[in-house]
Amino acid sequence: MAGNTQAAIHISNVKDSYVQDLAQEFGYQDIVKAKVIDTKNMRLSTVDKNLGVITSQCPRCKINLKFENGKLKCPKCERRENRKLSQDYGKGLI
Ligand SMILES: [Zn+2]
Repeated sequence: MAGNTQAAIHISNVKDSYVQDLAQEFGYQDIVKAKVIDTKNMRLSTVDKNLGVITSQCPRCKINLKFENGKLKCPKCERRENRKLSQDYGKGLI
């Protein structure tokens, strides 16, 4: 097999507003729905409303964060997290 062994998301393809830091949009263990926009360089995009994080865990409690009032919140420790969310957050069958 030859070719690319990596797929990447560029900071400009995360969402349609300004992104300063990718670490504020995606977190460790997140499950992200992305669209392939360039097969040559294997580039991904999460700009569309239905794309982005679909499940996310609290880094402390290791349980899924709940979507509440436009933000993600841990039901146990009440920690709040920011993400580039998919409109399908929490609805996916994983
Ligand atoms: Zn927690």
